[in-house]
Amino acid sequence: MTSNHQPENNEHSINTHSAGHHEPLDEETLFIITQTFKALADPTRVRILYLIAEREVSVNEIADCLSLSQSTVSHQLRFLKNLRLVTFRRAGTTLYYSPEDQHVMTILRQTIHHAQHD
Ligand SMILES: [Zn+2]
Repeated sequence: MTSNHQPENNEHSINTHSAGHHEPLDEETLFIITQTFKALADPTRVRILYLIAEREVSVNEIADCLSLSQSTVSHQLRFLKNLRLVTFRRAGTTLYYSPEDQHVMTILRQTIHHAQHD
């Protein structure tokens, strides 16, 4: 019964979406969202994300810059990788980490801004 469907219109969809007329979030999405905020609820992980925000950084350099052990850094990077917050490039035996994409980095930047403004 396609004749009863409203014509699809992206602009309209976005407007209805932002007005809050949408389906409840499914369990999987809720889990990922709350895990993502959990990832940001740790000072070490925030420091790591902030350090790699602008350029890819090796595990060694992260450890040096933040005065952390390699194993602590590796442990936290695995956590962040599992949540798709970071990715890495391998060059020989060195792993260079960078943000997987800008979505959560945008949240981090906004939160830093909020923390620092009057
Ligand atoms: Zn603010």
